[in-house]
Amino acid sequence: MKIKLHGGTQEIGGSCIEVDTEYCKIALDYGIKIDEEIKRQLPTDFDAVVISHAHLDHSGSLLNLTKQKPTIIGSKMTREVTMDLLLDMIKIQTLKKKIYSHDYQDVEIIRRNWWSRNSAALPGMAINLYSAGHVAGAKMTHVQSEGKHILYTGDFCVHSSEILDGCDITKLPKKPDALITESTYGGKIREDRTKLVDKFFEKIRSTIERKGNILIPTFAFHRSQEMAKRIDQAMKKGRIPRYKVYTISPLAKRITGYFNENKDYFRKEIKQQEKPFKYKHVKHLFRTTQIREPAIVICTSGFGHAGASLHLLAEWASNQNDSVIITSGYLPPNSPLTHAKEDRVFNYKENTIDVKAEVEQIELSGHADQKELIQLVELVKPKKTILVHGNLDQAQILSDKISKLTEVFIPERNESITI
Ligand SMILES: [Zn+2]
Repeated sequence: MKIKLHGGTQEIGGSCIEVDTEYCKIALDYGIKIDEEIKRQLPTDFDAVVISHAHLDHSGSLLNLTKQKPTIIGSKMTREVTMDLLLDMIKIQTLKKKIYSHDYQDVEIIRRNWWSRNSAALPGMAINLYSAGHVAGAKMTHVQSEGKHILYTGDFCVHSSEILDGCDITKLPKKPDALITESTYGGKIREDRTKLVDKFFEKIRSTIERKGNILIPTFAFHRSQEMAKRIDQAMKKGRIPRYKVYTISPLAKRITGYFNENKDYFRKEIKQQEKPFKYKHVKHLFRTTQIREPAIVICTSGFGHAGASLHLLAEWASNQNDSVIITSGYLPPNSPLTHAKEDRVFNYKENTIDVKAEVEQIELSGHADQKELIQLVELVKPKKTILVHGNLDQAQILSDKISKLTEVFIPERNESITI
């Protein structure tokens, strides 16, 4: 069995791992590297492609497979959300008037070739999926072939959030010949989640006291629903005062619909509610002009580089009573949000905006931290461990921590490893 890494090596984005055997060749994830100048061309000659979850850095290149039509394997939630994200990608490209060779029918081809099941048999190969705890429908992939077996984590998270159970690592197959794991936070140990949530609500309370606006840039899929639910519940329980709360994102609204119809992906307490993502205190808006200030606004894009979040950042950043709360752990180096936080100044259209609002990053991430990554390796006991989906510094710190337990690889792009 040969593993070849096509992306997500010493970086975050463009995840794609080829698994080549005598009988068939598959890809684990088929992602896109967002904001890269020259688009990478991934190989297309796969018999099947397993998609770990619906984030575009794991699924965003699927439209390049409409001619070859390989079988696509992934959960139903991953399929539904991926379809929506691909359609959104086509819409954005069309709006930007970029030459884009894909249309809505291509998305339909991908949907038709998608098997949404937890196990599949291919020539000489068995594939089994396990819940990964990262976002709704996220899976780890176990591949058995030629008497060997490998486990690919995709993005995963061991601790539970308000709406999703963490990955139960005790249930994963043990002693794989290779573990391919994400290493986003390989060098980082996070504060306890309850403390971070306390900190988050404290920031909300203090901004409400001075009647300020609160901008929370969030991804449309999962993080938006998780955030709306968190705030809605806190208001219901009197943990934070009542205040106007809005979500702005048609995409997030559509995904919220799936969440209400597919409750089985979520925690027991969520499943028991009739429409768990129908909020009492959170209202959906279509545009920023509908906001009645002061308010808490949960909106896209998550990195604040476009859409309502960029617009509101530009509007509110110069007001010292307002707050911006970033809950993502990763920020692209050149985004306005990064400049607002680091340099307290950023450019918007032709203007330079001095930041007077509070800009704070409180990481409520869905990724395993270093402690959880080490736990995984200790429990699963892999012969080889291949670190992907992490910048080199993070992967190296993790490598030092686990090198006594397993043989560690931090491959470069296009490198092959024989198992
Ligand atoms: Zn992800």
